[in-house]
Amino acid sequence: MAIATPILPETLRTLPSDAARQLQWGFADRYDLQLLAQSARSVARGPVARLVASGGRNSHEWTDAKAAMLKAFDDAGITAVFMDPEEGGLLAGPKNLALALVAFELAWVDGGAATASLAGCLALAPIHERGTPEQQRHYNRLAAPAQPGEDRKPWRGAFCLTEPIPYVGVDTGMLNGKLRIVEWKPGEEPILQIEKRGRFITNIGFANFVTAAVDSDDERIKGSCIVILEEGDPGIFDRGTPTKKMVHQLSSTGDPIFNLRVPASRIVGGYEIKDGLIVPRYSHSEVIEAVFRRTRVTVGVMTAAKLLSAVEPVIRYQRGRFRGAETATPGSVRYELGLQAREDALHRLVDVWATGEASASLAFAAARTFDELDPLEREVEKFLSERGIVGGKAKLKFLRDASDKAIELIALPATDARKESLSSDPLLRFVLLDSLADVQCPAAKLWNTGWGAQTMREAVSLMGGYGITEDCPGFLGNKWMDAQLEATYEGPEAVQRRQLSVTMTNPVFLAQFRQWIREMRAIANERPGTGACVLATAMTMWLWALNYLQKSKDAEGGRLYQSARQGVTFPLADALCWLVAARCQILDVLRLESQGAQDASLAEGLPGLVNFLGDLCHVQTARAGGEAARICAELVFGYNRHPAWEEARNCWHQDELDALEAFIPGINSYGLDVISSDGSHPKKAGPCVQCHDAQAFLSLHSKLDTCLTGSRLAKDRAAEAISKVMIPEALDYPA
Ligand SMILES: Cc1cc2nc3c(=O)[nH]c(=O)nc-3n(C[C@H](O)[C@H](O)[C@H](O)COP(=O)(O)OP(=O)(O)OC[C@H]3O[C@@H](n4cnc5c(N)ncnc54)[C@H](O)[C@@H]3O)c2cc1C
Repeated sequence: MAIATPILPETLRTLPSDAARQLQWGFADRYDLQLLAQSARSVARGPVARLVASGGRNSHEWTDAKAAMLKAFDDAGITAVFMDPEEGGLLAGPKNLALALVAFELAWVDGGAATASLAGCLALAPIHERGTPEQQRHYNRLAAPAQPGEDRKPWRGAFCLTEPIPYVGVDTGMLNGKLRIVEWKPGEEPILQIEKRGRFITNIGFANFVTAAVDSDDERIKGSCIVILEEGDPGIFDRGTPTKKMVHQLSSTGDPIFNLRVPASRIVGGYEIKDGLIVPRYSHSEVIEAVFRRTRVTVGVMTAAKLLSAVEPVIRYQRGRFRGAETATPGSVRYELGLQAREDALHRLVDVWATGEASASLAFAAARTFDELDPLEREVEKFLSERGIVGGKAKLKFLRDASDKAIELIALPATDARKESLSSDPLLRFVLLDSLADVQCPAAKLWNTGWGAQTMREAVSLMGGYGITEDCPGFLGNKWMDAQLEATYEGPEAVQRRQLSVTMTNPVFLAQFRQWIREMRAIANERPGTGACVLATAMTMWLWALNYLQKSKDAEGGRLYQSARQGVTFPLADALCWLVAARCQILDVLRLESQGAQDASLAEGLPGLVNFLGDLCHVQTARAGGEAARICAELVFGYNRHPAWEEARNCWHQDELDALEAFIPGINSYGLDVISSDGSHPKKAGPCVQCHDAQAFLSLHSKLDTCLTGSRLAKDRAAEAISKVMIPEALDYPA
């Protein structure tokens, strides 16, 4: 009798193709972005990789070789991504996803190269977000690469906020940079004196202009602002000495000193004269809020790229580890699989890969959100200004009303006729996306870079000693260190946690979050293998914990959820990031599955790829659920004082139990925390805690534990797939 061979599910054949990534990350319909990504890749894996391999990172100075890299960016169209076509740019419309893709490709090879490119955009961003139309036109044109036939070099910019200690760092309000009026002739533009010292300013070795944050040192100027400084302005434009960085050495960083005279028209966004005072239209914090909101997403993308870029070199290293040894003959397990014969080596690589997938999905989702949000934001600003609702309480009230409507919209059943018209209302769309962006951006910056840096260490460790040498393929050691900078600049983790602790309690976001729980359950119903059910339970638990902490007090009667209590709000923000990232990962795999079937170039390996990526989702949701549960449990229980034996009024006494035993045989075996007749008690911290008000949490916790069923089988399957996947003979960039 023939024994039926079980039909094994399809699994991964090759590493995910570009076509698959385009679907996952939402740019399969954007041929312009696909070309851009290819272009950035050819620079990254060509000149940038050669520069790193030839020791370009061994110097702090801004060298000719590093400068040549900027020229390569210009030639490949990377510099022009930030500008609109009429300013010499390549792409019309919002550019968040475009910039994210450039960052991804460059950081795949070197984070410093990516930063060198992005810092130019960061310098222009204040002008782009809040500059006057004249400022936007002028500086974007100057910064755009020369058109054919034009004989000029593009201007490079630097963004200067951070100051020498004890001034601006995490706390951006402690400004020491100053502006004063030095000349103000009647009917003419005021001339300002700007004094600013910077610390760790990127691009400063070659910048032609600087957008700098300064505060008024003159009673005729109100508040702070961002000003544009040019290298030709009268006064001191001292670039300072290069910072002795241990990371991102392909970018230029230094501590500049400026003491310059500039016309008041250099105030970003312009100014008004009110009662004889110069009133900048935007304070420095209003400008940087609009800027960092977008630029931090690309930083999150950079660390994601590092993690995913580690997969191929690690597989190659693991497989080839014993080849050439006498005992490792072709065909033997040692020869064919090398270290991949060991479960732990594979499981750890699964974790690195799964984290890379989740972080890429989160950051690209955030970039797409901003692409959708940007035009809506302008539309809403126009709408408000036409009705005379500009700033202050009136605007807040207007947006609060819109938020209430948006929450109603979310609650409507899908079949409700009002849902469609309300969903297409730009104001409501704006409010929804705005609250989402407020969470996605800091989450991508915080989780991708912070957890990414930890996970990069795992990737490095998988290469053994090789991982921490300059020869390591994929430059993994560099990438590990570089990830720490990405966690630090543009506001370190504390800044992102602080922001999340506010934005994650926005009722509009929470209404969407509740909808996500339903969405995850529905997905789990269709695709149980993705771990969507784990995620739904973990999300419910997080929401319960937030609600509980917002209402509860600690053992001393202190409120738990408040801004000064970072020990509560920050970990809860961390927990949310795990969940938000895992959700994005699942949604991307589902998009690949549904749209990939129509793509002939993908069709063949698609089921296997989707199964494998689905298993990675399951691995990631199990980890995310576990992390969230651990954090929430600590917060929910950790602020209660443990009962002490001295206060043990509710404990059984042994003589009571003995007396009851006659009526209820066996009761003795149920007695916990029993006090003996001599007053002694079991040796432990105190009687066990009775958590009457947290029973719902405990139920969710135990539900979550059982929801983990199958997640380790998914990990085994993913590990097996990694041990079989085909990879190219050699890395496509040098070591
Ligand atoms: C290579 C490099 C390039 C850079 N490029 C630029 C640039 O182009 N332009 C620019 O303006 N800046 C730049 N920076 C500066 C960077 O943005 C700052 O270093 C960063 O924001 C942190 O500020 P800080 O170093 O002063 O840290 P600090 O403010 O001293 O913070 C140190 C740590 O203390 C903790 N902490 C501080 N405040 C709080 C708080 N309120 N709550 C809780 N914890 C807190 C945090 O854990 C934080 O990580 C760059 C930095 C580097 C290293």
